[in-house]
Amino acid sequence: MFIRDIKVGVISNSRKEHTVGIELTTYEGKFACSAPSGKSKGKNEVPCYNRNGLIRSVKLTRAFAKTLIHKNFILKNLDDIKQLTDLIGHFEKRYGLFGGNIRYILEGVFLKAAAKDRNLELWQFINNDVNAGKKPKIPMPVGNCIGGGLHSPKINGKRPDFQEFLLIPNEKTFSHAVTLNLKAYTLARKILKTSKTNDESAWTTTKTNEEVLEILKKVAKKYKLRIGLDVAASTFFKKGYYKYKNKELIRDKVDQADYLEKIIKKFKIFYVEDPMEESDFSGFKEIKNNVSKKTLIVGDDLTTTNIKYVRRGVGSNAINAMIIKPNQIGSILEVKKVVEYCKDNKIKMIFSHRSGETMDSILADYCIGFGGNFIKAGIYGRHRLIKLKRIMDIEKSLK
Ligand code: PEP
Ligand code: MG
Repeated sequence: MFIRDIKVGVISNSRKEHTVGIELTTYEGKFACSAPSGKSKGKNEVPCYNRNGLIRSVKLTRAFAKTLIHKNFILKNLDDIKQLTDLIGHFEKRYGLFGGNIRYILEGVFLKAAAKDRNLELWQFINNDVNAGKKPKIPMPVGNCIGGGLHSPKINGKRPDFQEFLLIPNEKTFSHAVTLNLKAYTLARKILKTSKTNDESAWTTTKTNEEVLEILKKVAKKYKLRIGLDVAASTFFKKGYYKYKNKELIRDKVDQADYLEKIIKKFKIFYVEDPMEESDFSGFKEIKNNVSKKTLIVGDDLTTTNIKYVRRGVGSNAINAMIIKPNQIGSILEVKKVVEYCKDNKIKMIFSHRSGETMDSILADYCIGFGGNFIKAGIYGRHRLIKLKRIMDIEKSLK
């Protein structure tokens, strides 16, 4: 593919924060990609931007882009993206680091163009390489129904301490699963008597974790859905203790693990993300050992899509599932390593959006291309629905 033009700019994400977008023009057309942004980030994530900020990153990327104009790239498979990452590496050595979000959009837009060059959809381009032509797996959605923690505003000084109260269908088709999640989401709104949503379009409330779980249980039962939680425990772990605000309570490591085990059993919770703070591998293991084997104990801040921490999490029996957020690591070939390791070790993979999102649906192609078991991309809101719709379109194209 011949590079005719590359434009890099600053756009707004779903939270109206600045993020970066790119448009690549080749003889096959125009391709765009933009970067999501997290709020409850893991401490081991790569920095999103150059240490002098987003604008510095954009300037560097524009200078880098100029060096690519009129170059020809032949990307036959995912591994060939190394041609681009090597050039980025050389440029960064001389002029400074771009940051994970810039690498995310550069790789993303090149992969979109490379797929088109070979007359493939992006998921097919990845799947051909990673799954050697196997029929793609259609994931199930993990949808954020009710929110708390860092993603939600306090109402009268209150919000649930856990970050996400999730609904997870188990259906034959993705489109039916999405419909069920939407119905349950609408019912939850009626029960909560609210119209206010948070960063991820989940309902906001003043209720406690347990009160929300009671509501979630009710709506899940009606639509035969499974229940999940993103505890995002690091966000309220301060000076060695878990500091609950709603109701005011302090739990130490042992209390936190006991509490989580108790509610997992009481509410038959299928999916629990980051139940302990991000460096407590043994705490994750403790919970995993004391609940049903079917419960997914999911690493997000714990693993940060970084093979080093994924190996540690799996090797120490702390997790049986993990979140994959490509911009946590800022390299799609590192994502590929993590995916291969997860497949070899039977670790379930959840491809996930960030709380600050854009109208890019590349996550859906990554999820299907890499063979993800789940996609966590919300239930409602245009930045979330565009990703769900992309999976529905892929599903339709397979029939
Ligand atoms: C999460 O913790 O799973 C999440 C989506 O949050 P953020 O994007 O804010 O890191
Ligand atoms: Mg999380």
